[in-house]
Amino acid sequence: MKTTDYGFIGVGRMGAHMARRLLKAGLSVTVFDTSADAVKELVKSGAQAAASALEVANATETAFLSLPTPDVVHKVCLGLVEAKRLKHVADCSTTGPQVARIVQPELAKHHIVYMDTPVSGGLAGARDGTLAVMVSGPRTVFEKLESALKNFGKVFFVGEGAGQAQTMKLANNLLAAAAIVLSSEAIAMGVKAGLNPRQMCDIINAGSGRNSATQDKFPRSVLPGTFDFGFATGLSHKDVLLCLQEADALGVPMIAGAAVFQMLGVTKARFGADSDFTSIARVYEEWAGIQIRG
Ligand code: NAD
Repeated sequence: MKTTDYGFIGVGRMGAHMARRLLKAGLSVTVFDTSADAVKELVKSGAQAAASALEVANATETAFLSLPTPDVVHKVCLGLVEAKRLKHVADCSTTGPQVARIVQPELAKHHIVYMDTPVSGGLAGARDGTLAVMVSGPRTVFEKLESALKNFGKVFFVGEGAGQAQTMKLANNLLAAAAIVLSSEAIAMGVKAGLNPRQMCDIINAGSGRNSATQDKFPRSVLPGTFDFGFATGLSHKDVLLCLQEADALGVPMIAGAAVFQMLGVTKARFGADSDFTSIARVYEEWAGIQIRG
């Protein structure tokens, strides 16, 4: 296997787009995913396939991760410690600060620097290179990785502490889910009272209620009834749980956050973990006996 500029472990919905951004920039990339189909797609775009995460780590000094849950990130990172070449792991997954604080010292024992580099901006942001990229870890390593990270979007260095960027990301994702929950409540009420939901979004977006759901998620995935924004209910449920756990550990009560978490739990029970998180609106549609369509 030849050495490459970068590695990418987990080339699902987000990771595939991000790995392609590196390839399009003329960089060489070795990829691994437990889904053989996901790897095949990237090979078509010019990536080198690896048979395991360790094989990626033997082919490159810097591996990006885009994995679903804290447990998976932990397991994959433990599998990298025997790597012959790997020096840096940049974790683009949303897995919370706890796992970052556990994995960082474990990898450090093997002279591998763990950086948390979570991203926000959805599939369109990943495809177009317009994500917000939050970074924490040693500044010297950040400076080495910055040019690669710029392929993903706008880069923000938030601090040197392990998990700081993950904490930032959890705050963002709590707000993203909360925006869908409250926009669904407000718009379901309006539709039941005879208002037009598209016009409601237009008015809210011209006024003080505007938010990421009414500006983006409703027009794109709720009003057309496609519920295909590109972020799974199960992942959002996981993110808000991680946020509540972190807030609790810090002694910060999150009453509204707990309600958002419960709404994601209801959506997951009704439509499944793989449903799109815009399906929150479908729960309100059922409860109100209306449809939010424009
Ligand atoms: P996804 O489920 O599409 O991708 C995850 C990929 O990881 C899958 O292809 C899966 O096969 C692979 N995988 C699972 N276990 C593995 C293992 N042990 N080794 C290698 N590969 C493995 O999810 P996604 O939507 O691409 O999200 C990935 C991460 O990015 C999550 O942590 C998510 O919270 C975060 N995120 C997602 C979005 C979004 O809009 N989808 C936005 C920002 C951040």
